[in-house]
Amino acid sequence: MKVKAALQDIPVYQPGKPLEEVKREFGLDEVIKLASNENPFGCSPTVWESLSTERDFFSLYPEGGAPLLRQQLATHLKVEPERLIFGNGSDEIIQMIGRAFLEPGTETVMADITFPRYKTQALIEGAKAVEIPLKDGVHDLDGMAEAINERTRIVWICNPNNPTGTIITAEQLATFMKKVPPHVLVVLDEAYEEYVTDPEYPDGIKEVLANPRVIVLRTFSKIYGLAAFRIGYGVMDASLIQDINRVREPFNVNRLAQRAALAGLADQDFVNQCRKANREGIELFESHLTKLGLHYFPSQGNFVLMDTGRNADEMFHHLLTKGIIVRSGVSLGYPTYIRVTVGSQEQNIQFLNELDVAKSE
Ligand SMILES: *Cc1c(COP(=O)(O)O)cnc(C)c1O
Repeated sequence: MKVKAALQDIPVYQPGKPLEEVKREFGLDEVIKLASNENPFGCSPTVWESLSTERDFFSLYPEGGAPLLRQQLATHLKVEPERLIFGNGSDEIIQMIGRAFLEPGTETVMADITFPRYKTQALIEGAKAVEIPLKDGVHDLDGMAEAINERTRIVWICNPNNPTGTIITAEQLATFMKKVPPHVLVVLDEAYEEYVTDPEYPDGIKEVLANPRVIVLRTFSKIYGLAAFRIGYGVMDASLIQDINRVREPFNVNRLAQRAALAGLADQDFVNQCRKANREGIELFESHLTKLGLHYFPSQGNFVLMDTGRNADEMFHHLLTKGIIVRSGVSLGYPTYIRVTVGSQEQNIQFLNELDVAKSE
């Protein structure tokens, strides 16, 4: 059987090393995973109990439109409920947007390096991915605007950018939006929006309300700590939602995910605590890296891409033997950098101690 031509050059996604596997492999009892930008504080303690209301309904399909969550989230974001779409992770919304708007002969513009799903989905649809190199780790919006032509359907802006953690500012976005022609969608992937503390960060929802060509993507996987459930959402003009709904699977967001997200959303104290602890962790990382003389990108996410001054795979393996899983930059296009998720204070200190030891060897 021959796989379809568009798929031949698409690599299979390589996830970070699972925690259980590392424990077995190195005979370690304690392993900390700082590789996938998961929340070190778990999720809101209210989530577990909220799930019990679903236990009598396991035999029933979920409500496809997630009405309860839709209402709560609309209130939280101050948008009409018709502007929301839910996905099995925001990954699935990226997939649905690609399916609905890309086809052979079309193009889509993104940064190089950024979140890999935009490109993968473009290739699956047989569309051309036009990649514009980052400048100092930041989206080159001028370059991206210049890359737009009549075949362009979507521009992806990952803000904060994964893996660099950098943001584009409200002012930069405004300048860029003036150059975007009306046949192009602009997707702002804001998976880390809740972590951002920089006042220059744009209000993506305001952009959506002002412009029917702007889409904001967010997720419950990161600050809400609900990655296991797979649930994310998109905010956009209601007519775009209608288009995307044509390719959405009828029951794409499962019952438990809808319930968990509802509970998570209601606990904004948890979100605020996580944001605060994360910022302290970033500051700890940054001051320590400065002391060590190692370059890093200023991050508004819950991770820092930092130079190790040596081959990143080597550093990755070294840290692994100490029970710390990080992400090597080799596969991310930064061969001497590692991407490290901000953990709890204890985890952060443990990681920095190991970094010190490795550096002095
Ligand atoms: C983690 C991440 C996502 C995907 O989140 P899910 O909702 O878990 O699918 C999307 N975009 C970026 C930039 C991410 O880092």
